[in-house]
Amino acid sequence: MKRFSGLRILAEGLTGNAGWRPHWRDAAPAEAYDIVIVGGGGHGLATAYHLAETYGEARIAVVEKGWIGGGNVGRNTTVVRANYLLPANQRFYALSLRMWERFEQELNYNAMVSQRGILNLYHSDGQRDAYIRRGNAIRFSGADAEHLDRAALERMWPFFDYDNARFPIRGGLWQPRGGTVRHDAVAWGYARAASARGVDIVQNCEVTGFDIQGGRIAGLRTSRGAIGAGRVGICVAGHSSRVMEMAGMNLPVESHVLQAFVSEGLKPCIPGVIGFGAGHFYISQSDKGGLVFGGDLDGYNSYAQRGNLPMVEHVCAGGMALMPMIGRARLLRMWGGVMDMTMDGSPIIDRTPVEGLFFNGGWCYGGFKATPASGLVFAHLIATGTPHEAAADFRLDRFARGHLIDEAGSGPQPNLH
Ligand SMILES: Cc1cc2nc3c(=O)[nH]c(=O)nc-3n(C[C@H](O)[C@H](O)[C@H](O)COP(=O)(O)OP(=O)(O)OC[C@H]3O[C@@H](n4cnc5c(N)ncnc54)[C@H](O)[C@@H]3O)c2cc1C
Repeated sequence: MKRFSGLRILAEGLTGNAGWRPHWRDAAPAEAYDIVIVGGGGHGLATAYHLAETYGEARIAVVEKGWIGGGNVGRNTTVVRANYLLPANQRFYALSLRMWERFEQELNYNAMVSQRGILNLYHSDGQRDAYIRRGNAIRFSGADAEHLDRAALERMWPFFDYDNARFPIRGGLWQPRGGTVRHDAVAWGYARAASARGVDIVQNCEVTGFDIQGGRIAGLRTSRGAIGAGRVGICVAGHSSRVMEMAGMNLPVESHVLQAFVSEGLKPCIPGVIGFGAGHFYISQSDKGGLVFGGDLDGYNSYAQRGNLPMVEHVCAGGMALMPMIGRARLLRMWGGVMDMTMDGSPIIDRTPVEGLFFNGGWCYGGFKATPASGLVFAHLIATGTPHEAAADFRLDRFARGHLIDEAGSGPQPNLH
């Protein structure tokens, strides 16, 4: 694998850019592997990379039904942060944020990691108290959080509608180390690094069934033929319930649609990432100038990668309530992705009742920022058979045991998390 460097870019620029090669091998499936990862999104690719790099596992394949980066890893709104309340989540996301900070150096890949900060606004005294409690929990975990009052906000974000009669803005919780990462570059970076370590990346290969013998995984049925496998890791995000059904499992997961929106390109006007505390609206500005924003789930179960118009109006109304100026910008494009929503809004990374079959999913609308840590801890689980300490609470049986990690306090109501 040739390394990227400023010198190399200069040399290629002077010689007609003829020296660049594909970033990863588009492999054909072999008859059998030691480990097969199903799903070539961020989590599947990161897992394969760490299996090869950290745990020295050989003969690994990632099988992807479409193309690398075609799922949610290339559809999200690129926000990364570690600002959770509950220890089980915050420990894990704090690890992930630290891994983002060295992602580009470790993979020698430009993913435009931008720690521009993330602000969550509050609008009442009760919400302020809850945010301060959350901020303290974040700081206990080793991550950063600062309370900003209205005067501090007005200096940095003068364009908010502070005195909006219904949702007056009183202050916010600011995490300077949060920010954005170019989403599809994450998929490409992991694919390149995994491929360079011998991982077969098999695209256009849909898993259609499992070969389970005596309670143990023996292989997969795919649209490109049968593949033998000693161990199998599932990372199919919004398709989790469908794929695990093929292995005879009924997951505590529902799939829902979430939409993203991008405006026409504008001069820099929005610093950081902003979350509206009175509605589910959040926004940042891409390096190309487009306003990138999103809001609530569409609110009905679906496996379709597209949303409906009522939510477009709802999200845009949220944006207008926060900063009326964005009503002047024209919407350029929008798309939908399929969210694997668990009953407590937290992920699952665990073994399954089938020996050798491991599951990673339930990422809801927050799994992009989890990608590096998810790959590391899932690789650890598959390689060693024991949970990584940073993900020890993300057990599948917690719903039966009553040990939920209910971050949003919404109970078993996936569309509300
Ligand atoms: C609009 C939107 C905005 C979001 N915003 C954010 C955000 O700002 N921050 C954040 O942290 N998270 C965000 N998310 C969530 C985040 O994108 C996901 O939680 C995360 O990307 C899921 O993990 P993944 O990358 O592995 O998924 P995916 O990229 O979806 O990977 C799963 C792969 O499995 C493949 N697959 C499915 N079935 C099969 C099969 N039978 N055989 C083979 N392959 C199969 C799919 O084709 C897919 O490529 C957002 C999501 C959406 C849709």
